Amino acid sequence: MKESGRKQGAVSPCAACKLLRRRCAQDCVFAPYFPADEPHKFASVHKVFGASNVNKMLQELPEHQRSDAVSSMVYEANARVRDPVYGCVGAISSLQQQIDALQTQLALVQAEVVQMRMNQFTSSTSNQATDSPENASHTSRLAASPQTKSFFSMDMVVDHANMVESLWSY
Ligand SMILES: [Zn+2]
Repeated sequence: MKESGRKQGAVSPCAACKLLRRRCAQDCVFAPYFPADEPHKFASVHKVFGASNVNKMLQELPEHQRSDAVSSMVYEANARVRDPVYGCVGAISSLQQQIDALQTQLALVQAEVVQMRMNQFTSSTSNQATDSPENASHTSRLAASPQTKSFFSMDMVVDHANMVESLWSY
C-alpha cells in the first residue's frame, strides 16, 4: 500500500500536494495516507489542523502508527467542521450520557427483578404445603382460607400489579 502510494505520487501528486500546489516528492510523507482520489480527507485536516502541523505529527510518529493517526485526525477534523464548538468531544459526551442513563435504567430493572423474585419466594414459602412457586399467588387468592392469609395474598396481588406497571413505564 505504501509502495503503490509512492508510485502514484511520482506520477501524479497526492491529495495534499495537489491542494498545497507543490511537487509531490518521492518520499512525500502525505502520499501513502492522502491518495489523490480522496481529496476531502486532506482538505478537512488542513482546514482544522493546518498542513504543517499534520506534517509535523506524521514525522514524529513511527511509520506503523501513521495510518491510525491519519484516521483519527480525519475523524476529529470532520467532527470539528460539523460541530465547531465541541468537535468530537460532543459525540463522546453524548455517548457517555447515554451509557449513564442506560446503566441507571439497568440497575432499576435489576432491582425490580430481585424484588419480584423475593415476592415470589415469599408467596411460595407461605403456601409451601400445597403450591408450586409458579401458581402460588394465583391459588392463594383462590384458597378458601380467611383471616391473615387472604389478607397477605391480597397485598401480593396489588404489589405485582404495581411492579408490572412500573416496568412498562420506562
Ligand atoms: Zn505528496
